[in-house]
Amino acid sequence: DSGVPLIKAGALTTCTHLPYAPFQAKDASGKVVGFDVALIDLVATKLAVTQEIIDTPFEGIKSGADLNSGKCDVAAAGMTITDERKKVLDFSDPYFDATQALAVQTGKEVKTLEELAGKRVGTQGGTTGEDYIKKQVEEKKLDIEVVSYKDLAALQQALATNQVAAAVNDLPVWNEYIKANPGKVVVAAGFDTGEQYGFAVKKGNAELLKTVNEALAAARADGKYDEIYKTWIGE
Ligand code: GLN
Repeated sequence: DSGVPLIKAGALTTCTHLPYAPFQAKDASGKVVGFDVALIDLVATKLAVTQEIIDTPFEGIKSGADLNSGKCDVAAAGMTITDERKKVLDFSDPYFDATQALAVQTGKEVKTLEELAGKRVGTQGGTTGEDYIKKQVEEKKLDIEVVSYKDLAALQQALATNQVAAAVNDLPVWNEYIKANPGKVVVAAGFDTGEQYGFAVKKGNAELLKTVNEALAAARADGKYDEIYKTWIGE
């Protein structure tokens, strides 16, 4: 026993929101795998327990509701560290850098949001990408209808079926989608939002947070982080 309090004996319970490849998604056999999963597995190993993943809406994760109510020990959801979220969650050290990207169907490239006047742009509900686009539309008074989808799969489906002219999400998830669906979609523009992902624990769970940070630091030092990065993100 590591002495770190966990909500369920023998398990490190992780809240996430599927699908969010390459960070967390089901493989062909239905097992949840990905970059975040692999890193949290290192935390579970350090605690001598196994990781148990719970798929739940992103809203409950980022609002702190899931962790603070004891649904999960840790949140691993490609989640950007923000000041607002820091009020309700305690974040680990950053483990990944991300930016936002605008994806369009191949052959329908635009370079700027201004070129999308009169069109619909899709976002994923509750995400930093959605916040970014809404702010741009407001500040630049753009004639764009922002349409919110409940998860990444629904957003990607909307783009593939022309329900939106463009879709915004984190760059690494578009890169992954393009790898899996070659030729269909391109990243037309990037927005350098300078985001960093963090794992989160219930406010005040200093013991677990310390273990997460120690596991991350060890992985960066011993090459496991690089190995996991290469496996899930690429070179
Ligand atoms: N990084 C984005 C955010 O934190 C998207 C996360 C997600 O959809 N899982 O809002």
